Amino acid sequence: MRVDSLDFLRCPYCGGRLSLVDSLFHRASGDEIHDGILGCHCCIFPVVDGIPVLHLQTAATAARDHVQAGRPELARRAMFGLDDDRLSDAFEAVAASPVSTYRDIVDALGPAFEGGYFLYRFSDPTYIVAQAVVRATAAAVLGGTRRAIDLCGGSGHVTRSLLGLSSPPPVLADLYFAKVWLARRFTAPGCEPVCVDGNAPLPFARGAFGLAMCTDAFMFIWTKRQFVGEMARLIDGQQIPGALLIGHAHNERVWSPSHGNPLTPAAYADLFETIEPRLFAEAGLFADVIGGGRLDLSRRDGADVLDRDPALTIIATRHPGVFAPHALPPLAPALGEFRINPLYAIEDGDGGRARLRLRFPSDDYEQEYGACRQYLPDEITVERSVIDALPTRVAAGPLADLARRRIALDLPKRYY
Ligand SMILES: [Zn+2]
Repeated sequence: MRVDSLDFLRCPYCGGRLSLVDSLFHRASGDEIHDGILGCHCCIFPVVDGIPVLHLQTAATAARDHVQAGRPELARRAMFGLDDDRLSDAFEAVAASPVSTYRDIVDALGPAFEGGYFLYRFSDPTYIVAQAVVRATAAAVLGGTRRAIDLCGGSGHVTRSLLGLSSPPPVLADLYFAKVWLARRFTAPGCEPVCVDGNAPLPFARGAFGLAMCTDAFMFIWTKRQFVGEMARLIDGQQIPGALLIGHAHNERVWSPSHGNPLTPAAYADLFETIEPRLFAEAGLFADVIGGGRLDLSRRDGADVLDRDPALTIIATRHPGVFAPHALPPLAPALGEFRINPLYAIEDGDGGRARLRLRFPSDDYEQEYGACRQYLPDEITVERSVIDALPTRVAAGPLADLARRRIALDLPKRYY
């Protein structure tokens, strides 16, 4: 972690500033803290492999004891949740290899790790809406100089869409160490990862952010009222208004896979005590995104439209630039590298051509994300030379067409 991150980190329980306890075991160099103990007025927290762990769950307290005893490698083991020595050794060999991919490391974390469908995240319908809404909102409110935070951001797929929009790097907060560790290495390189319990007060200073967001996770938070109050605190008191964004919150009125503990649209709105939110039915935003022209955040969806949509996007802001139509960005050079979408199998076709065939990892995936058929064709034939030229940073000619159709994706380096 960067030493200057201590400017915006606070103890979740006493609200006090945190500082490195010099008298206890630590490894630091220049402006980076690799391992050590952070102290406030009331307790101490470990920094494990450069990631501050600001909660007191079982693994965190075990890791703290290991760091205090000068055993940072055991602290990391505890945070990865690999109790079995054989599994741990195998995982550490994969993690230590510079050529390991995101997929290799998820596989090495074993079945206990909620790897799920993250490999396919960059083209799923939920993601493409979140990416567009987050980029439009962040570009409007951050002004290139303010910081954003992605709360419960998992392994950083949506955090990735914040990279390059502002000079201070985005903060990625999640309960699970393995996820934010993966994000820093692959999915959102340069982000500031922090381990945080979303059901506790958030360990950040008032007004430290221009954008506080949470996508595809809010229905799993039990303390929803506290969470929204905390998000509002994080963007409070700035001269230019910030924004609070909750993406893909399931609707209690409509069943959906991995339902969580959702609320009705009206109940979500009631959580906001200091600022009136605007709710969007995700179907309308999805139609905008696959239409490819503009994302219209000036729309006002009526109660009937909200009530029948399985998922909602909620934005609260007094910034004048957010509730407006936003042009969707044109195809740009890759942040990582263009490769074929992992949902496609590549087969040999006739006469030096390749056949790409859409195939889903499971029936469950197809049921949850089948709407991707609206933009991903079942089958397409391309010149083999287009595939052979991958990975590449710039998409031109036929590759640009594949990229616009999400058959080729701008993926993190060494993703799969
Ligand atoms: Zn404290």
